[in-house]
Amino acid sequence: MKKLLAMLLTAAVSVSLIACGGSSAPASGSDSKEETQEEAAPAEAAQDAVSEALADGKLVVGTNAEFPPFEYLGDNGDPDGFDMALIKAIGEKLGVEVEIQNMEFGSLITSIGSKIDIAIAGMTVTDERKNAVDFSDPYYDAVQYVILPADSAIAAKEDLLGKTIGCQLGTTGEYLIDDIIAEDGATQKKSYNKAVDAVNDLLNGRLDCVIIDRNPAMVFQSNYPDQIKLSDGADFGFEAEQYAIAMPKGDTALVEQVNAALAELKSDGTFDKLVEQYIEN
Ligand code: GLN
Repeated sequence: MKKLLAMLLTAAVSVSLIACGGSSAPASGSDSKEETQEEAAPAEAAQDAVSEALADGKLVVGTNAEFPPFEYLGDNGDPDGFDMALIKAIGEKLGVEVEIQNMEFGSLITSIGSKIDIAIAGMTVTDERKNAVDFSDPYYDAVQYVILPADSAIAAKEDLLGKTIGCQLGTTGEYLIDDIIAEDGATQKKSYNKAVDAVNDLLNGRLDCVIIDRNPAMVFQSNYPDQIKLSDGADFGFEAEQYAIAMPKGDTALVEQVNAALAELKSDGTFDKLVEQYIEN
């Protein structure tokens, strides 16, 4: 018993020594640097070398769980979907706990660095967003789609002029509608916090169409196969988009770590498995 206690005490002292070693100031000589690295717990050494966002061992991730198949509320009420699985796998690679915070899409970028560390939300890389955040390497190709009532005659971009168009607030779909309004001021825009509310208004005849990313559009169409049809935005001249993870501006260590984890997940087959599980099923 006494021996066990002594062993435990020794272990406790070693742990606190390791903790001190890990948080001590960087050593100047190469010999003592080696010593510091040997003493430090591996996870701690990695965190010191990385990023403030990871320093507490927890990555607080913002999303907007209204964007299937990338994020939606699962049966238990927690955010689920491709992005959620991807960021959890990235967290595992980085050795940090992942906590998901569900919020409005339009609040994500301004919350980075305060309420949340990073955001993953089928977020398209844009030059404007790049002024506020740094992005990971892109992980998915996208394009805006046009959701139409099954009997709609809309077939080209000109047909959208003067129409009432729905979208999700603060999204690239909304920016496209703004461009259309700039071309023809008679065009009306209705923005919704939840894409599903836009789709409901389309089904109720309050909208002529909804502009939203391809994969969510496909999910909505499969829910209402007889009532709605889809048009590929590429046929309307909409440009290709790419999704990436948004991170605090200037935290290059974090960007590098996340990119390295993403690359590993791609090369070890995890990424493709998640695509198959969540997107192409
Ligand atoms: N890809 C779009 C954007 O970044 C929509 C994202 C979303 O609604 N979650 O604006």
